[in-house]
Amino acid sequence: MVHYAPSKPTLRQKLEILADAAKYDASCASSGTAKKNSLGGKGIGSTEGMGICHAYAPDGRCISLLKILLTNHCIFDCHYCINRKSSNVARARFTPQEVVDLTLNFYRRNYIEGLFLSSGIVKSANHTMEQLVEVARILREEHDFRGYIHLKTIPEADAEIIHQAGLYADRVSINVELPTDTGLTRLAPDKNARQIEGALARTKDRILTAKDERKRFRHAPRFAPAGQSTQMIVGADDANDAAIIGKASTLYSAFGLRRVYYSAFSPIPDASAVLPLKRPPLLREHRLYQSDWLMRFYGFAPQEVADAAEADGNLPLDIDPKLAWALKFRASFPVDVNRAPRELLLRVPGLGTRAVARILAVRRHRRLRLDDVARLTASVAKVRPFICTIDWRPTLLTDRADLRGLVAPKREQQLELF
Ligand code: SF4
Repeated sequence: MVHYAPSKPTLRQKLEILADAAKYDASCASSGTAKKNSLGGKGIGSTEGMGICHAYAPDGRCISLLKILLTNHCIFDCHYCINRKSSNVARARFTPQEVVDLTLNFYRRNYIEGLFLSSGIVKSANHTMEQLVEVARILREEHDFRGYIHLKTIPEADAEIIHQAGLYADRVSINVELPTDTGLTRLAPDKNARQIEGALARTKDRILTAKDERKRFRHAPRFAPAGQSTQMIVGADDANDAAIIGKASTLYSAFGLRRVYYSAFSPIPDASAVLPLKRPPLLREHRLYQSDWLMRFYGFAPQEVADAAEADGNLPLDIDPKLAWALKFRASFPVDVNRAPRELLLRVPGLGTRAVARILAVRRHRRLRLDDVARLTASVAKVRPFICTIDWRPTLLTDRADLRGLVAPKREQQLELF
């Protein structure tokens, strides 16, 4: 972290501090994108530069966002956070107008398509939330800004101010931070799990109400039309993957979240003694994103995903959770690709949603051979033990004790999805 003389920092210096401070928030990024990378940024004017991150818009497009904090001053002292009040880092603070000017400047030059704005808490939760809302208000009302806005909201702020945020933003997010209440109490003593859940519940209600009203009245106000999301930090406390999967599933069903983001805890300078010294393996974050996909797109129940975990409750790192589940529940295989319903095909390791859609389309006209399936997958070796086709049946293959070794990807392939 660069330390500046106590004289008033320039806008560029503030941007450097507040873009860097925002990189720890994963909730506008997507699994597999290069995030937390603003240190290597090339500064104002570069589409890979300081504070610019990539996120997926609700329509699936990858968009560039200016990702910054309004300020990294904070009156809270969350142990895992580099911006906590006891942290010895350079501090800076934008005015709402400065954030507006930066956003418009970047937007007009086509460097960004929107803004992701979060903040440490200054003075009070209400004061900070009002400043965040003010940025969005000026952009929308005074400049007719049509770009994407994602506002981080502060659960300790009054419900009415959070409501204002949703009227201007496309998406709002409230971080649950840690998978368990005990972890939150220990590592974020100023935060309260019930308060966070209350804010998530109110936001869910408002999103649903606004959707309903817009169906009936064309000019009813929009409220966070891209929904709400949250972030959980992984590896700062001792919650295992099964607990994280359970928490994510509850969050999706109770609060209608669009996304739960997982952020592998990253050790910070002058870290508190209650934190682990090492970050968890990055693959752990990746495996959790894969488990999330299994629940959202592959029809797996949360308990089924948790069943794929090892004895310590953590997902294996060397194989993806779908393969781990298939190896544990071999009696569910082989699946006949020419007859099985979609939900069973989605259980086959190595077959993604697109491959399954293709199989269903092709088999309306003809029956599939192993070669046909091979063309739809990155690794037929991974698929073969779990399927049958008109010319292939894996006799006793699923009973082999060494099956895991046969189908586990080589090290360099471990990031592939399923
Ligand atoms: S509230 Fe906690 S997590 Fe948020 S900026 Fe302050 S110290 Fe960091």
